[in-house]
Amino acid sequence: MKSSPIKILVTGGYGFIGSAVIRRLIGSSDYSVINLDKLTYAGNLDSLQDISNNQRYSDARVDICDSQALSLIFEKFQPTHIMHLAAESHVDRSIDGPAEFIDTNIIGTFNLLEVARNYFNNLNTAEQKKFRFHHISTDEVYGDLEGTDDLFTEKTSYSPSSPYSASKAASDHLVRAWGRTYGLPIIITNCSNNYGPYHFPEKLIPHVILNAFQGKAIPIYGNGLQIRDWLYVEDHAKALIRVVIEGKTGETYNIGGHNEKTNLEVVELICSILEELAPNKPNGIDKYKDLITFVKDRPGHDKRYAIDASKIERELGWVPDETFDSGLRKTVKWYLDNSAWWERVLSGKYRLERLGG
Ligand code: NAD
Repeated sequence: MKSSPIKILVTGGYGFIGSAVIRRLIGSSDYSVINLDKLTYAGNLDSLQDISNNQRYSDARVDICDSQALSLIFEKFQPTHIMHLAAESHVDRSIDGPAEFIDTNIIGTFNLLEVARNYFNNLNTAEQKKFRFHHISTDEVYGDLEGTDDLFTEKTSYSPSSPYSASKAASDHLVRAWGRTYGLPIIITNCSNNYGPYHFPEKLIPHVILNAFQGKAIPIYGNGLQIRDWLYVEDHAKALIRVVIEGKTGETYNIGGHNEKTNLEVVELICSILEELAPNKPNGIDKYKDLITFVKDRPGHDKRYAIDASKIERELGWVPDETFDSGLRKTVKWYLDNSAWWERVLSGKYRLERLGG
């Protein structure tokens, strides 16, 4: 008997990681996808231009805090799988204004869980067996590994430091509780820092590439010795698709690339790649690395994150394809080749057009 088609409802699909997931789902599978996105400042229609006319793709401008709108979409689209990526995701913004992080990351996730639970309860047994609610989270929920050689495992207890990571931790707890209490077939993934194409230029790697390329100061928090464990976004997207289709219900999988680097090392490597790929520097700049400027550290800044990704490697056979060197080189090249994308982001035009302004 032919099995029914896979229909994936993705939230936050116009963001950095969501758009990578959708490009891959449409490009490399026969699944149907609906993308629910509120289109905040972080959502970008340009990031899905290449697949926007595909017949298996549709979108809806929806706030996950709006239960009624969510219910209507569930009813109409009849998803077999949910991939929940919508979130407020920038730590600095969470420090300046935590309210939106509480609304979207906690209340929004609660709404989505309730709508999914109601929908799930009305499915037949075969449909229930297939249904998955995949919540996409971060390694920042585990807190700081400063002064140890430890790695975050799926059993590490939560100890978030910022309003962002606290709101993501709260959402993870809700998802687990809905699995345990209501029998919703949930899966959670916690991933380390991502980098790659289509990354909003407020985040470290695209910010550094574009500032350096434009001859502007490259700001580094504190002494730049904070360690992050970097993963190329395409590798994350592949892992997420593997998990939502093949992962075991009720499980958590940590995802990471075994690429522990200090922020300073990352910035210096970007500068040396730029020396090679963009040797014609703006006037008055001798070396890109001369633009490095140390600025006051972020409050509550965690010193070290590092992921033990052995469970997903062992149980689902996922390993990253890119090394940090190869992924970073691809990323720098993408920003150099795609100035139309980031110039529209920096000018704010991608928002004005969308808002009809
Ligand atoms: P992003 O900020 O680039 O994109 C978030 C998307 O969610 C945007 O398209 C935005 O418009 C949408 N959105 C925000 N609020 C919404 C709401 N109320 N309703 C509907 N849509 C809304 O984020 P990202 O970097 O792509 O991260 C995606 C997910 O992955 C997040 O849950 C984040 O916590 C998690 N994560 C990110 C990283 C990373 O390094 N970027 C690492 C691990 C986990």
